[in-house]
Amino acid sequence: MKILIVGLPGSGKTTQIDKIAQEYGLIPVRMGNILRDLASKGGKMGERVKSIMASGELVDDETVAELIKVEAAKIGDNFIMEGYPRTMEQVKLFDPGFDKVFYLGVPIEVVKDRMKGRGRSDDSGAAIEKRVQVQMEDMEDILSFYKNVLVKIDGTGTIEEVFKSIEDNLQ
Ligand code: AMP
Repeated sequence: MKILIVGLPGSGKTTQIDKIAQEYGLIPVRMGNILRDLASKGGKMGERVKSIMASGELVDDETVAELIKVEAAKIGDNFIMEGYPRTMEQVKLFDPGFDKVFYLGVPIEVVKDRMKGRGRSDDSGAAIEKRVQVQMEDMEDILSFYKNVLVKIDGTGTIEEVFKSIEDNLQ
């Protein structure tokens, strides 16, 4: 099963992915982690990715689509993905063909508060604003593209409540 989890940064995706991956034996794939790995390796490409990420802008579509295509070829058909695709251009370049897409809905103010408490190096005030703004713009298009497999989940409950809502849709 190929699952995508969509939600604003701080919506709880990462926590839920870990639980679902464990419970259902799916490989967790996080675009942000793939890019952070690349950035930490340095070199021309790594340095470029690192500075884009620090600014809160998106890495270019060709680069991320290629990275995820390579990753998808390695892991096969049982994964749960986060962070890709983020633009319609990415969908056009490479669509993993998800069986299910979960959208975790959380009010924007809650998302901003959660991110501030997370303390990641790219979670400074300006970068947070920028990331939320950029992601809101593209999310609607992505969700409507996947509407046939889309399930909207209320992400404001406890971790267990949100997990239960997801599980109810995985039977
Ligand atoms: P995340 O860990 O998902 O919050 O992603 C951290 C940063 O990685 C983002 O702010 C972007 O700079 C970059 N990034 C992650 N996923 C993508 C993507 N699908 N397309 C472009 N840039 C991305």
